[in-house]
Amino acid sequence: MSFAARTKKEVTLITQKTCCDQAELTAILQQCGIIRAFDEGKLVLDVAIENAATARRIYVLIKNLSDESLEVLVQRKMRLKKNNIYIVRMRAGVESLLKKLNLLGQDRCSIAQEVGLKRRNSCCKKAFLRGAFLASGSVNDPDSNSYHLEIACHYEAHAQGLCYLMDEFSLKGKMIERKKGFIVYIKEGEKIVDFLGLIGAHQALLHFEDVRIVKGMRNQVNRLVNCETANLNKTIVAAVRQLDNIRFLEKEYGLERLSPKLRIVAEMRLQNPDVTLAELCRLLPDQVSKSGLNHRLRKLDELATTMKNQMGYLEEQTGALADRLV
Ligand SMILES: [Zn+2]
Repeated sequence: MSFAARTKKEVTLITQKTCCDQAELTAILQQCGIIRAFDEGKLVLDVAIENAATARRIYVLIKNLSDESLEVLVQRKMRLKKNNIYIVRMRAGVESLLKKLNLLGQDRCSIAQEVGLKRRNSCCKKAFLRGAFLASGSVNDPDSNSYHLEIACHYEAHAQGLCYLMDEFSLKGKMIERKKGFIVYIKEGEKIVDFLGLIGAHQALLHFEDVRIVKGMRNQVNRLVNCETANLNKTIVAAVRQLDNIRFLEKEYGLERLSPKLRIVAEMRLQNPDVTLAELCRLLPDQVSKSGLNHRLRKLDELATTMKNQMGYLEEQTGALADRLV
């Protein structure tokens, strides 16, 4: 079962107040309710959904709000993934249910307003988000490449209403137009966690956080390793350059012409090209600190660079150095 399916299954088990039942069902009907009117003025409501747990939830929600009997039909999709489609059908009492949900006679804009502005109870706002997610929402497994939660809407006004509601909980929902309608989505891991908490998917939230923490640690370790590697590369480049310069001085200048302090360092470095600075310090006969040794190596570098500049040697030499590092 996918993470999204598990999340849905979890929230379908929540029990809540009647006001919240109404809010949740309103959101579900907005997304996937179909009302057909017959000549005699009779209304039939179909709610079609692929997720079995959500279908059961819809059945229970309607039952909590109406005494009328309901049918449940199962259709098998002929193409694509061949999933089942569950249809909860209400043949009687549709009008009074829609009235109760304040859905009758409203155009889309006023529904969006109702969602965003008039529905004051925080519990109901959360229930509304839960309903929208159950009806047409999806969330990536936190293990996947990117964090993503989305709710698909047929109409722009619904999507705007959802964005407005999400804003109230600082969820930073964004909206985008697709070929078939609109998508409201959340990309930030932290905000997805907040959303899961709001709709009461606490198991899903814990799983999401677990994965996120492990991922975060892995990223931090990678960053540290990259950082260490970068520093190591810098050290290697410096060491190669020093050695190169000393060899240059040996060939073009003569180490015997250097001051004794520089000469001993140059000779020791040539004899021990692979040792670290600290080890080189220990190898030197006079007591030299690491910074003292660095200072002398820098002097050798400067001397070599000045000479190379004078000799027009630099470009050729740096090219060769770069080749060796590749
Ligand atoms: Zn409520």
